Amino acid sequence: MPTDLHEIVVVGAGIAGMRAAETLRQEGYDGGLTVVGDEWHAPYHRPPLSKKLLSGQIQRAGVDLAPQFDFDARVLRGATARKLDPSSHTIDLDDDGTPLTLHYDGLVIATGATPRSWSGGAVPDGVMLLRTVDDCLAIRECLAGGPRVVVVGGGFIGAEVAATCRMLGLDVALIERGDGLLLSALGAEMATCWAQLHKSHGVDLRVGVNVEEFVGNGRVKGVRLSDGSQLAADLVIVGLGVSPATEWLDGSGLRIDDGLVCDATGAVEGGSDVVAAGDIARWWHPRYERHLRIEHWDHAGRQGETAARTLLAGPDSAEAYDGLPYFWSDQYDVKLQMLGVPTDYDAFAVIEGRTEDWNFTAAYGRGGATIAVLSTTPGRVQAYRDEIAKAAVFPPKPA
Ligand SMILES: Cc1cc2nc3c(=O)[nH]c(=O)nc-3n(C[C@H](O)[C@H](O)[C@H](O)COP(=O)(O)OP(=O)(O)OC[C@H]3O[C@@H](n4cnc5c(N)ncnc54)[C@H](O)[C@@H]3O)c2cc1C
Repeated sequence: MPTDLHEIVVVGAGIAGMRAAETLRQEGYDGGLTVVGDEWHAPYHRPPLSKKLLSGQIQRAGVDLAPQFDFDARVLRGATARKLDPSSHTIDLDDDGTPLTLHYDGLVIATGATPRSWSGGAVPDGVMLLRTVDDCLAIRECLAGGPRVVVVGGGFIGAEVAATCRMLGLDVALIERGDGLLLSALGAEMATCWAQLHKSHGVDLRVGVNVEEFVGNGRVKGVRLSDGSQLAADLVIVGLGVSPATEWLDGSGLRIDDGLVCDATGAVEGGSDVVAAGDIARWWHPRYERHLRIEHWDHAGRQGETAARTLLAGPDSAEAYDGLPYFWSDQYDVKLQMLGVPTDYDAFAVIEGRTEDWNFTAAYGRGGATIAVLSTTPGRVQAYRDEIAKAAVFPPKPA
């Protein structure tokens, strides 16, 4: 452990920041540790916000992110990092209205991502975004009134929210301007399947159309689409993806290009003694030989742990992380799990079961090698971990 490491600051108290803070202590770091987060809530699990917390199957306390063990840290809540000056190793904060400057010897940046707002200007009341627990509870309150719901955006957040609302018995339309639901994440074959899943549950799915305008004076009443049609709506949930939360780092000299650009250990390019993890970070992935910014819960936590070890090890001894990205998504009674990264796949095959039964496993390949496996059979993707890790011949065989 470098002897000049006496004060470490973690900015961002989500899963990446919290796992980083815990790992620092677990690895024996006993210097000063400050965790800065701009939310007032104690750290919480984000995935249930579009699922069980939104539906009311669990309550607010059910999403608290319990620390894995007790650890000693100064925790600042409601404190927003405004500026980073790497030359003086300082961070300027707005600590609930009071300016505060923190010095650091080591810095973990884990400020996550922020949802993209509607770009077409002001929106009427009832057009909402979903990222935080407060967003979720505000939407949930609206759902109690039995609104007609329009979801804008056919990525995971949109698809999960649509499923949750349908399971509550609400009328739901889902609008995606691209050619398919979950298309960029799952590819054309699976996009067709998931579109079918939503239609069979009664979602009015419209793909290949844009939202032209939200209708309503003060309160939303409907959504006008680019094909000339209009949908009635009492509530609109916009899920247009996220942008890495890097604004406060402008002018810091750190390399920002769709997130903070990091090497395979989490060290940020353009900085020293600075690591980054989670949704904000675009790490070099040795296995996929490219920088990847992964917006998944499991990966964010693992990056947080690795980034902490990198700080403690110092640049010459830090170890690269090449773990396979993993994520899941729950829609209706289907749990989708994916191991690996299917981007740019050129081969696809269902390798177990039948899609019609919603109990199947499918593989993605590129250049004859296996790059990712998706399954709706819980835990099944793990059987293909070695095949993906070794880039085994496509289609893969289970261990
Ligand atoms: C509704 C929803 C459902 C999801 N479902 C799934 C799922 O089923 N499976 C899956 O794998 N992933 C899912 N995800 C994605 C997953 O939650 C994220 O990948 C993960 O939360 C990223 O963790 P993070 O710590 O990098 O960022 P975050 O969780 O965003 O935490 C960053 C924290 O930093 C704070 N912050 C930002 N800027 C500042 C600043 N300047 N100063 C101080 N604090 C700041 C933020 O307020 C936030 O509290 C879901 C996400 C959402 C929103």
